Amino acid sequence: MNEEINQLIALQEVDAELSGFDQEIKEQEQEISKRQLSINEKESAIVACQDKAKDLEQQKRNAEIENEEAGSRIKDRQGKMMQVQTSREHQALLKEIEENKRLMKETEEQLISLLENIEQAANEASELENLLSGEQKLLKEETEAVNKKIKKIEGRRKSVANKRDGLATALKAPLLKRYNMLLVKREGLAVVQTVEGVCQGCFMSIPPQQFNEVRKGEKLHLCPTCQRMLYYKQEESEEA
Ligand SMILES: [Zn+2]
Repeated sequence: MNEEINQLIALQEVDAELSGFDQEIKEQEQEISKRQLSINEKESAIVACQDKAKDLEQQKRNAEIENEEAGSRIKDRQGKMMQVQTSREHQALLKEIEENKRLMKETEEQLISLLENIEQAANEASELENLLSGEQKLLKEETEAVNKKIKKIEGRRKSVANKRDGLATALKAPLLKRYNMLLVKREGLAVVQTVEGVCQGCFMSIPPQQFNEVRKGEKLHLCPTCQRMLYYKQEESEEA
């Protein structure tokens, strides 16, 4: 096979390896951001719990004030009972006392349920805080582990990248330029095999005459559909 084609095949192999490293690093980083996201969600949930507790505390203070005010109104009306002359006035005071007693009972019930809700919100917040601190600890450990892994991957990547530099400089500049452009445009796959007349990049058929030329391997051919660089490798089963 043409030496240039061999060089291109080797370059493509190395680039696939490099892109594999990039993918590995990305996956590691995604693991971390997934954990970070879960932590962010917990932090927001805690803030929501705290806001809810604050709101409940305010409602509790309002209910306490209402309760106290109803209590003082009862005392006030009871004091006035001795001073009124007519039964009509007497009835009016009694009615007011009854209403305020009802209000007191209502606000007391409200207070009981508010206290329960406040406690519930506090429990919820502290449960979330426990989970959060566990997750933060785990994230710290995981980040350290991931950074170590990434360092290792980058070490391996570097030696492959050096190999790539060597292969790239061996190619003629215009050919390298075309290869690099294809690599970007065709998602990391610029040089592909042809199997039974089909381009393994886009899986479209190549005209039979061109496939024969590709088989000969004397000259570089591009897929008429995807423009990828084509090569032919004889399969063991195809050997005549
Ligand atoms: Zn193609």
